[in-house]
Amino acid sequence: MKQKQLIVILGAGESGVGAAILAQKQGFSVFVSDSGTIADAYKTQLQERGIDFEEGTHSEETIVQATEIIKSPGIPEKAAIIKTIRKAGIPIISELEFAARYTRAKLICITGSNGKTTTTMLTYYILQNAGLNVGLGGNVGKSFALQVAEEQFDYYVLEISSFQLDDMYQFKADVAILLNITPDHLDRYEYKFQNYIDSKMRLLQNMTTHDTVIFCADDEVLAKEMKKYHTPAQVLSYTVHNDHKKQGFLENKTIHIQATKTLTINTRDMQLQGTHNYGNSMAAAIAAQTINIKSDIIRESLQTFASVEHRLEKLPFTVRGVEYINDSKATNVNSTWYALESMGENVIWIAGGTDKGNEYESLYELAEQKVKALICLGVDNAKLIANFGERVPIITEAKSMQEAVEKAYEIAQSGDTVLLSPACASFDLFKNYIDRGIQFKNCVRNL
Ligand code: ADP
Repeated sequence: MKQKQLIVILGAGESGVGAAILAQKQGFSVFVSDSGTIADAYKTQLQERGIDFEEGTHSEETIVQATEIIKSPGIPEKAAIIKTIRKAGIPIISELEFAARYTRAKLICITGSNGKTTTTMLTYYILQNAGLNVGLGGNVGKSFALQVAEEQFDYYVLEISSFQLDDMYQFKADVAILLNITPDHLDRYEYKFQNYIDSKMRLLQNMTTHDTVIFCADDEVLAKEMKKYHTPAQVLSYTVHNDHKKQGFLENKTIHIQATKTLTINTRDMQLQGTHNYGNSMAAAIAAQTINIKSDIIRESLQTFASVEHRLEKLPFTVRGVEYINDSKATNVNSTWYALESMGENVIWIAGGTDKGNEYESLYELAEQKVKALICLGVDNAKLIANFGERVPIITEAKSMQEAVEKAYEIAQSGDTVLLSPACASFDLFKNYIDRGIQFKNCVRNL
């Protein structure tokens, strides 16, 4: 009997375990290897299905037997095990690349430096409201691979990060949305912005004349890159300015969508606010038009979709007349720029954390105009202090969320806004951005 081919999966998180389940279902021999500890819930899923795994180590002799390796997006190229695998010449792919081989569903794929989750959730919401049989995956919710193994969806809305795109080769999007490209994760791209850009643009690979690309024309990097790629796909774009030639544009506080029929939505009727979110909404609405969703459903969905937790999330109460906003997901300078831009004056801004090679110049003007006090919440705040010490009236440091919120409370006066929008990753003081956002909300509730 022919021996089964071995698929090795590195990293037993949501995507790895989903990939293992799908690989087993497809008749491969499967081995999962995680150098850390595997969460109990995932261990149970593997055990229940009799899938071999190891934790706390990578057994090279087994791993190099694989015909193909599926790697968690969190494992960097410089990891020792990846070097070994490259040397052995074994192909490394992402969970999305693997899962896409086993579904004929239409794939609406969303990438960008900021706004991916918001736009993905909104697009998914529109498709659901239209009654389509649709799954949500990629970086959000259940893994794509698990759903391909266990569900029969006709459509998927997938949030795709650059780390995932790095290991995608034959994958093809039916609709690709490119939101923006600004410097992020440069530590994974040899500190070369172009490497990161090239990674994002991989979303266009393999597209055909039957497919559609939707991009933000206001993003200079994207506009320039799109000229370099002679994609056979239909290319549509949107702008938050008044340009009637685009398939989405903004005029007199009204969003106009015209990829197929003309559709207008007054932004005052929308829950999702802020210029960046008008752009995200246009991207989702154009995508919905390309798959023939009715105008009424698109309009109603845009009106009723509220923001996603930890993204400019306004707390539903004020404390002594002060509003508190949780934007913990703002882990880079660009997303914080949009947060500050959408604020009024007198902002008490809580920022800081693990710096991913940040350049703060673009925030100077907004900080000078709007920030009354900056509370630097990080283990090392030197860079923030050097950049903003002279630009904001008050600057101070905190070593815990509790301390940061208490300091904000002392400084804030009625009518002010306390904004947590860190512009940095959270790993120095928190488990992740969710932990940071939850701590913020709890500390504010306890004031
Ligand atoms: P991602 O999944 O790409 O990280 P999110 O939707 O989670 O994006 O939003 C992350 C942060 O970026 C939030 O602080 C949000 O307010 C901000 N943001 C959302 N959309 C955009 C956009 N189009 N441009 C810039 N910032 C954005």
